[in-house]
Amino acid sequence: MHRTYENEDLVVFWNSEKCRHAKECVHGSPDTFNPAKKPWIQLDRAENKEVWQAISKCPSGALGCVYRHGIEVTVDAENCRSLAFDGDKQIGECEYEKVGDDFCIYHTAVQEEYGGRGIAKRLVYKVIEQAERECMNLTATCSYARKVLEK
Ligand code: SF4
Repeated sequence: MHRTYENEDLVVFWNSEKCRHAKECVHGSPDTFNPAKKPWIQLDRAENKEVWQAISKCPSGALGCVYRHGIEVTVDAENCRSLAFDGDKQIGECEYEKVGDDFCIYHTAVQEEYGGRGIAKRLVYKVIEQAERECMNLTATCSYARKVLEK
């Protein structure tokens, strides 16, 4: 399962398939990472610095984190894409097609001046989450999306 969790400043990526249950996250920020709660990641329970440090100790790569930079990322399932916005301005997209029981991501792009902020990964994660919600398999011909799926 893949999920993103956000607060005003941070976006946390979570890939349950990679988790080795070493609990470094739980020890590092027990109010944020609590497997007994739903959702198990609650970003409003601790300072961002504590959350970031706890994530940096995750030994498996199951957790990742980027700053939001005020960028909104949403899924537009009707049009088979996720979109990134800086205010009203669309600055990135990730597009997929439905083929039988598969989603296939064929294009991911973020405007050059917004590069290096993890926006492309956020776009791909939104599509992964949508595929999981609809119980669809996910493949990619887009080389960037393929890298995210393989990580
Ligand atoms: S630190 Fe990483 S590997 Fe360990 S429990 Fe947390 S998410 Fe899983």
